[in-house]
Amino acid sequence: MQRVRELIRAVPDFPKPGILFRDITPVLKDAAAFARIIAVLRERYAGKVTHVAGIESRGFIFAAPLAHALGAGLVVIRKPGKLPVATYRAAYALEYGEDVLEIHQDALAKGDRVVILDDLIATGGTARAAYDLCTRCGAEVVELCFVVELAALAGRQKLVPLPVHALITY
Ligand code: AMP
Repeated sequence: MQRVRELIRAVPDFPKPGILFRDITPVLKDAAAFARIIAVLRERYAGKVTHVAGIESRGFIFAAPLAHALGAGLVVIRKPGKLPVATYRAAYALEYGEDVLEIHQDALAKGDRVVILDDLIATGGTARAAYDLCTRCGAEVVELCFVVELAALAGRQKLVPLPVHALITY
């Protein structure tokens, strides 16, 4: 993971002043680093989950290959207005703004065991909303997993007592 850490690019004042944006695109274009992330996550969740839930949009980048590698289903948690049939909605506050997430009501069911995956946890609002959506569908959330955790923003505390895992912490 040291190589992945080195590849993540810190971009000051994006998307607005005062935000230090952690850009994962240099990791994605490095075949070995990208593959390493999926391999590490596959090892962690093999045999433990039936589904991987990715959060739009950068969560999808990791959730799809992980679901495939695990032989698990892929569930998408999306920005509002994108899903065509009945949804559950959850509003949340971002490090930079406010938003809503949705999930199809039939995306998950009782008995499903899901890992929620996103590129990064900052304040934890997005992850909390994703957790609420998966549990409203009746699924058990095995863990909330992130490639990057910004520890100073204390997102993990917002999720207590839920299990949280991050590959890289700043
Ligand atoms: P939060 O709800 O505050 O935990 O924000 C997490 C979501 O916002 C994730 O989907 C991230 O992709 C995005 N995000 C928030 N802060 C940053 C940051 N400093 N760098 C990159 N992405 C961020």
